[in-house]
Amino acid sequence: MAFNRRIKIKQLIEEGKLGEQVTLMGWVRTKRSNKHISFIALNDGSTIKNYQIVADPSLINEDVLRKISTGACIKAKGTVVASQGAGQSAELAAASITVLGEADPEKFPLQPKKHSMEFLRENAHLRMRTNTFAAIFRVRHALAFAVHKYFNDKGFFYIHTPIITASDAEGAGETFKVTTLDLKNPPLTLDGKIDFKQDFFERETNLTVSGQLEGELAALALSDIYTFGPTFRAENSNTTRHLAEFWMIEPEMAFYDAEDNQDLAEDFLKYVISYALDHCQDDLAFLDQRAAEEEQQKKADQRSELGLIDRLKMVVENQFVRLTYTEAIDILKNSNPNKKKKFSFLIEGWGSDLQSEHERYLVEKHFKKPVILSDYPKEIKSFYMRQNDDGKTVAAMDILFPGIGEIVGGSQREERLDKLTERMDEMGIPKEEMWWYLETRRFGTTPHAGFGLGFERMVQFVTGMGNIRDVIAFPRTPGNAEF
Ligand code: ATP
Ligand code: MN
Repeated sequence: MAFNRRIKIKQLIEEGKLGEQVTLMGWVRTKRSNKHISFIALNDGSTIKNYQIVADPSLINEDVLRKISTGACIKAKGTVVASQGAGQSAELAAASITVLGEADPEKFPLQPKKHSMEFLRENAHLRMRTNTFAAIFRVRHALAFAVHKYFNDKGFFYIHTPIITASDAEGAGETFKVTTLDLKNPPLTLDGKIDFKQDFFERETNLTVSGQLEGELAALALSDIYTFGPTFRAENSNTTRHLAEFWMIEPEMAFYDAEDNQDLAEDFLKYVISYALDHCQDDLAFLDQRAAEEEQQKKADQRSELGLIDRLKMVVENQFVRLTYTEAIDILKNSNPNKKKKFSFLIEGWGSDLQSEHERYLVEKHFKKPVILSDYPKEIKSFYMRQNDDGKTVAAMDILFPGIGEIVGGSQREERLDKLTERMDEMGIPKEEMWWYLETRRFGTTPHAGFGLGFERMVQFVTGMGNIRDVIAFPRTPGNAEF
């Protein structure tokens, strides 16, 4: 006989099933007992809601009841009855309970009390058993599903780009090397360098920092594509917005210019957030409450004006502000924090790279709406971005969100072979290794554009979590690859 003939708590709550016999399986959140009766709050992860099980000691063996404690896994069979207590309309009157897995209360780390986020990160193997993390991962799932649905409905094709590559798409060099060479005794060339010809791929390879370049190859055949895969950056930035391993969504579209690209990105972000608002109501209500409690801990002048759900609605209901880098520099140069030297990096003038403090000033203080910044100086952007006619800027765009800063980075790509190779030469990008990329400009080139959305930053925005380590199951950051 099959073991799993149970109903999930989500379905049971939706369908009611008063008077019916059901089997539940899940993990005990709490147990309250007196001589006459025990109340067990059970959660199986299908919803944030617990289901109450009522155990009568005249029916359930005393030995079994003793083993039921916070964290234990049980199977309970019984009849759904109307509940006497407040908090639920129905409950399970247990006819039999089996303990599938005990959790010694002396040793089980998660007790029914508030744990610090730091403690839960150290216990990431168990933290999904808390309301907060289960809610985050259900929302994360809904967002991932919405991403695929959005693009599928629009006729985009999902392309799986390689994880091991020989190119460093950004030219930034912050890559993790991939090798099977003996690190203690690597083969050397005559001039004493490591001889990668003897390595597995017969060349130097690394984990990908972006699927974009391969994505472009696909767009120049299938018109509209997207990638959604892991990306790796060995940047040693211990911030609340950077991971060494994160998931990136990169649509790439033939026959799109910079404005088409901005329109798509705005529509896409609004769709995905609306999807969460429509499909994750219980979890978002819980996270909204949680965020409100966190805000109360902050100093009055650092609290955000909007609650979590209001912030999501604000993004969905408002047009994003669009302005150029040059216009943004003017605003920043004349801003109070710049004049009063409150920024850690003062804006001296045109050409400065924008730091997260500047991005957040624009979004949170100046416009109070998401912002699409475009047309950055070519010196601070990648070689593949299309050069504007002014000779100084490129058709780049960054989308800035409240509380997050940069959530999307994209551009119209340079489709003109001569302009592209000129820029590669200026920036010292080796053309020989990129021969395959250049061939797309040699054969049937066309205007095209795309962008990259850091998936965890989106999950952070929607769940209101302050630290990116709390929106991926097992974060990879400098000094941390446990689990
Ligand atoms: P930042 O300036 O915030 O480091 P970036 O300019 O390096 O971002 P891109 O190279 O444009 O970012 O990558 C596209 C998107 O990927 C970013 O807009 C961001 O959402 C996300 N992203 C970039 N680096 C990380 C990281 N280390 N961890 C998580 N997400 C990231
Ligand atoms: Mn970066």
